[in-house]
Amino acid sequence: MIATRGRAANKLDSSDNEERSLMGAKKQKLQRFLSAHSNCYFCGGAATTIDHVPSRECFIGRVGPEGYEFPACKRCNNSAGPAEQTVALYRHCTDFAEDIRGRPQVEKLLSGLRNNSPTRVPITEVSANQKRQLARRSNIALQTGDTYAGLPIVGITPDVHHDFKVFSRRLTCALFYRHAGKILPATHMIKTQWIQFAHGRAEKIVADITADMPHLTQTGRVNTNIGQQFSYRWYLDAETETFLFAAQFAMAFFIFGLTARFALETSGEGWESHQSDYPEPFR
Ligand SMILES: [Zn+2]
Repeated sequence: MIATRGRAANKLDSSDNEERSLMGAKKQKLQRFLSAHSNCYFCGGAATTIDHVPSRECFIGRVGPEGYEFPACKRCNNSAGPAEQTVALYRHCTDFAEDIRGRPQVEKLLSGLRNNSPTRVPITEVSANQKRQLARRSNIALQTGDTYAGLPIVGITPDVHHDFKVFSRRLTCALFYRHAGKILPATHMIKTQWIQFAHGRAEKIVADITADMPHLTQTGRVNTNIGQQFSYRWYLDAETETFLFAAQFAMAFFIFGLTARFALETSGEGWESHQSDYPEPFR
């Protein structure tokens, strides 16, 4: 603080007051939210923060849908950060709608990853041969005049897949909390998968997976049109606490999640208990 005089001082005082009342309103909102939702949606511990799932960074201008705020303890909220950054980057830079409003976020997320986590940065040195292999594997057809070398394909590391898994498992817990109205038990098993919009068979795969999912949720905001950046189909069997969903993130990728009690069918490849998601030293 520095000393000021006259009108400038009054002005500063009033902006101080505004800031104080803004902070007060924010705090009140948090208190109100936490009195209705007192436990962490992820680990069940005492909640002290609001976690946005999917993270705001996934949406253009960081403006996400209403109603996707979840109570979280600080530890669970913080532990999501790195994976959220990675997924947000790929959400914006692989969007087939090529919405240019996402570009400033791509730059910011990229430079953050370059500094803090270089193994998450897309690998741009991909040979024409590698591109051809991937295009064939993913049923990506060449358009007239295109060459394999010219396809906009980048490489990703196992770390990126790991981050998608972390992100997808959190999304599973959040959507379970929203639609089942309770915290996913630690003993529940979870399996997730993701597929790019660009994959030639994506539409068919999604149609097969969602055939038995009766509900469609289109998310949005009351006073702002955020477009169709996040929508999902889902199914819940409340009695057996089985929940499955297929979510679409703009025209970038789909995430599938499935959670159920431990059983023979949920002990195979790709299945892990929810407890394995807990940040240390809870496990
Ligand atoms: Zn927690």
